[in-house]
Amino acid sequence: MPQTEIGTSDRLLAELRGWVERETPSTDPKAVNGLLDVAERELRGVGALVERHPSGREGYGDTLIARTPPEAPWGDGPCVMVAGHVDTVWDHGMLAGPMPFRIEGDRAYGPGIYDMKAGSFMAFHSFREILRQKIPTKRPITLLLTPDEEVGSPTSRAHIEREAERAAAVLIPEPAGGLTGSCVTGRKGTGSFTVKVHGRSAHAGGNWSEGRSAVVALSRLILTIHGMTDLDRGVTTNCAPIWGGTRSNVIPPEAGCRVDFRVPSLEEGARVVAAIRALAGEPEDGIRIEITGGLNRPPFPETEATLALHARAQALAQAAGYALPKQHRGGGSDGNFTAVMGVPTLDGLGCTGAGAHAPTEHIRWPDLAPRCAVLCGLMETLG
Ligand SMILES: [Zn+2]
Repeated sequence: MPQTEIGTSDRLLAELRGWVERETPSTDPKAVNGLLDVAERELRGVGALVERHPSGREGYGDTLIARTPPEAPWGDGPCVMVAGHVDTVWDHGMLAGPMPFRIEGDRAYGPGIYDMKAGSFMAFHSFREILRQKIPTKRPITLLLTPDEEVGSPTSRAHIEREAERAAAVLIPEPAGGLTGSCVTGRKGTGSFTVKVHGRSAHAGGNWSEGRSAVVALSRLILTIHGMTDLDRGVTTNCAPIWGGTRSNVIPPEAGCRVDFRVPSLEEGARVVAAIRALAGEPEDGIRIEITGGLNRPPFPETEATLALHARAQALAQAAGYALPKQHRGGGSDGNFTAVMGVPTLDGLGCTGAGAHAPTEHIRWPDLAPRCAVLCGLMETLG
C-alpha cells in the first residue's frame, strides 16, 4: 500500500463529482481552463511548481504541468511522469439533459467520468497528497493535465513528448479495461484521412452525360478503403462521416468522407498510409480525388520495460486486494507518444467502469480508492 493517505472511495467520489459537473468539451477552451484553474489552485496550495502553457492556437485549452519541488523528500533527476486529459467527447448540456451525474449502487454516471476524469482526478489527488503529506518518492513527479486528447492532442503532444524525454517512466490513468480492470501494455497506432472528391455537376435530366458524379466515385473509394481491413493482421479502416451532393436533380460535383484507421505496427502503418494515399489523383475523366492525413498516434509496443512496470503495478494491486491483468487496446492514447519514444509506459491505470464515449458511461466507484492506491504507489516507488 502507498504511504500516502488516500482516503476512502466515498471521499474521492465526492471531489470527483465536482470535476464531472464541470463539462469540458475539447472544443471549449474556457470550460477546460476552468477545470484546470481548480486543479492549479489546489496544487499551488500544497507547494507544487505549476506551469500553464496556453495552446497558442484558437479553440484549445491550456496544458498544465505540475512538478514536485527539486528538494527533499522528492529530489532531482529523471522523473515519473503522469499524464491525464481533462477534456471529454461530450458537448455542453449532457449533465442537464441525458447524462446527469448520478449514483446507482456501485455505479457513478456522468459525462467523461470514465474517460477519463476519474483517472485524471486520481493522478491529481495522488500528486497533491504526496506533496501535502510530504511523502518521500524515489523520483521527482511530473503531472500533466492536458486539454485536447479526445481530438488527437494537437497542442499538448509537444509538451507530452518534451516531458517524456526527461522521464524514467510514464503512467497514464486512462480508463481501466471494463470490469476486469485491465491496465494497458500495448495499443494500436491510429490515424485519419480526409477525402475530397471533385466531379462535374450537370442537370440530372437534361445533361446527365455531361456530369461526373463525385458521390459515385466516393462510393467506389469507400469500398476500396473499407476492404483494406485485415482483422488477422490487426488492421482496421472505417469511413465516416460521409457527405456529398446538393440536390437530387443535380449530378453531385463534390463529395467526401473522413477515414479512421488502426494498425499494430509502424510497418503496417506505412503500408496502409501508402495504399490510401495512392488512391488520390484522377482515376477517370472528370473526377479528381484529394487525400490528406496520415498516422497520428504511432503504435504503442509492449516491451520488457512495460512488462516490468506492469509487474510492479500487479504487486501493488495484490497488496490492495485485487488482480491487475493487462491487455492490448485498439484505441490510441497519449501513451502511444511516450511508448514509441522508448520510455517505459503503463496505461489504463484509471478506474474500472464501462461505456466510454457512450451515454451509459460510468465508473465502478468503490474501486476509486484501491485503483488510486496502485497509481499512488507507483508514483512513490518507481525508481
Ligand atoms: Zn481518454
